[in-house]
Amino acid sequence: MRQTRVWAKGLGLCGAVVEGVELEAWSNTVVVAVRVGWQDRDRCGLCRRRSPGFDLGRGRRRWRTLGLGSSVTVLEADSPRVNCPEHGVVVAWVPWARHRSRFTRTFEEQAAWLTAHSAQSTVATLLRVT
Ligand SMILES: [Zn+2]
Repeated sequence: MRQTRVWAKGLGLCGAVVEGVELEAWSNTVVVAVRVGWQDRDRCGLCRRRSPGFDLGRGRRRWRTLGLGSSVTVLEADSPRVNCPEHGVVVAWVPWARHRSRFTRTFEEQAAWLTAHSAQSTVATLLRVT
């Protein structure tokens, strides 16, 4: 199995292609560069309908995901916008996060589960969020 597939599997990424992984030393952050697979490109972020591209949006964007050891881990990818016939110009859909979220689905799901089963201060410390 290729290294990039191991990263995708380990981070619970479906429909994403891992392009590379690097450690941002100054912030002790693992940055996983990803892109949307060809079958999921150019889809509306709200209804997932395939839509014509509009522009490149604000360039590279980051989503916080589950950590690896003592490092914060983020996914980084382009976030182009599409012109949906129903919703207008919106950021394109990505398989790893909900629309307008700064966190991946796996991160949100783990935070929700932990919050339901333990103290908020414990969850905040464990996930390194405030
Ligand atoms: Zn739409």
